[in-house]
Amino acid sequence: MLTPYIPESLTRFADPHEEAAMRAALDKVKSEIGRTYPLVIDGERISLTHTFQSLNPARPAEVVGTFAEADASHADLAIAAAARAFETWKFVPVADRARYVLRAAAEMRRRKHEFSATMVLEVGKSWAEADADTSEAIDFMEYYARQAVRIADSSGLLTHSSGEDLALHYIPLGVGAVIPPWNFPCAIPTGMLASAIVTGNTVVFKPAELSSWIAWKVCELFWDQGLPPGVLNFVSGPGRVVGERMVDHPQTRFISFTGSREVGIRIYERAAKVHPGQKWLKRSILEMGGKDGVVVDETADLDAAAQGIVASAFGFQGQKCSAASRAILINDVYDAVAERVVALAGKLSVGATDLGREIDMGPVVDLKALQKISSYFEVGTQEGTLLLGGAPLHTPEGGYFLPPTIFGDIAPDARLAQEEIFGPVLALIRAQNYDEALEIANGTDYGLTGGVFSRDRARLERARHEFHVGNLYLNRKITGAMVGINPFGGFNMSGTDSKAGGPDYLLLFTQAKSIAERL
Ligand code: NAD
Repeated sequence: MLTPYIPESLTRFADPHEEAAMRAALDKVKSEIGRTYPLVIDGERISLTHTFQSLNPARPAEVVGTFAEADASHADLAIAAAARAFETWKFVPVADRARYVLRAAAEMRRRKHEFSATMVLEVGKSWAEADADTSEAIDFMEYYARQAVRIADSSGLLTHSSGEDLALHYIPLGVGAVIPPWNFPCAIPTGMLASAIVTGNTVVFKPAELSSWIAWKVCELFWDQGLPPGVLNFVSGPGRVVGERMVDHPQTRFISFTGSREVGIRIYERAAKVHPGQKWLKRSILEMGGKDGVVVDETADLDAAAQGIVASAFGFQGQKCSAASRAILINDVYDAVAERVVALAGKLSVGATDLGREIDMGPVVDLKALQKISSYFEVGTQEGTLLLGGAPLHTPEGGYFLPPTIFGDIAPDARLAQEEIFGPVLALIRAQNYDEALEIANGTDYGLTGGVFSRDRARLERARHEFHVGNLYLNRKITGAMVGINPFGGFNMSGTDSKAGGPDYLLLFTQAKSIAERL
């Protein structure tokens, strides 16, 4: 029997036992560094001569793993395998499918620090951020397993019709192309895989290149539970080649993507094309970027606001779709909040996160990210006033470190206030009053997360109605959505608002079959 879902507790690394356990996990995963990983199609491991490497962004000379570089032909093989596996997997009872996922959750919980340590090394997460990522992965599995069982029971949903036996079944769709980003490299792939598989679909999974190692560990966790061959196929390689073929293939039934706006739009357009031999219209579940803002008014608790802004802006180096990249401050409190935010952000420690729990910010994910984010330092200097940071930090090992960077007096329509930078860069924007603050907050193409700090009841109520974001947070930070507590997904160019970790999410991976039999 399934117990109620309870979110995973975060680890207190201040506890010496937990700290020692995390250090041991780091030692363990360091001993695994440098291995080579194959593709896995239909349960078969396929090694290729073409490979690519995943690097430690704190010490880029350190290759954490080498991965087979698939091409379109491997995507085709994997889709064919997934299509064959679907013919049996779709008939496996939901309770059995849920058990695979629950066993994977239990195993990940046992090896929680190992998963976190892998992310510390591969993408530079701090201990706390990595722990939150692994916890969320466990939560997704625990939650979706229960939701799958719940939606399979449609009793009571239909209106009685005399003389007929009625049923409503949410049946699986078919083969899914699962394409995650690198920034929640354990939680997002785990959630995308668990949701698709537990509802009876089979999957071709293409990890984000920069986080292929942790993605491999997630897949291995599922395979180790005895998942039948072909249900989960691992095809590492470039998005533009492998991902694109997965999207275009006529046997792909749905696409589950999380990533940038640019790629999301491209997938949306390509998925709409019906190819020869294709019998359905593909379903696209696309979660994209953000330009998330926090409003602070003159009634707010300014210390709480500054803490919320700093936590939201600089956690995982600002590389979250939910990160606060705009602080919209009402004129009367602009200087007071700016001063507090700069002071708090200036205290954040930046360094290689495997050194210890006290490092707040690690490197950004790769050289391309470093260059892109740094290019906004120049833009920000032209568009506003540099208040903190603004230049890369150099280390002997050439790590991709950037300091928390804050620009003041940025205009609402400036590039710094409109474009997703995806790094530790915060724009402070001045608003004359609350009306204007809300207008600025809504004044981008995105609509993912947003926040308001205020003690004014009426203003908080207005934000509930007028602040157009998928995830609105009042008097708290705007990151850290919890599975089952804060269903997550955005409006407008932030995506299709699929609300991961929410009660409706699994329906996206199903189609409803309505059956009536004359008695
Ligand atoms: P990205 O779009 O560059 O890549 C995402 C995935 O798409 C990768 O696996 C990549 O290989 C693949 N890909 C690239 N080109 C492709 C193509 N032409 N066809 C098919 N697949 C292709 O994004 P990223 O840099 O990995 O992630 C960062 C982005 O993700 C940010 O914009 C961030 O806001 C967004 N994000 C959104 C959410 C959300 O829930 N809304 C969550 C996390 C991240």
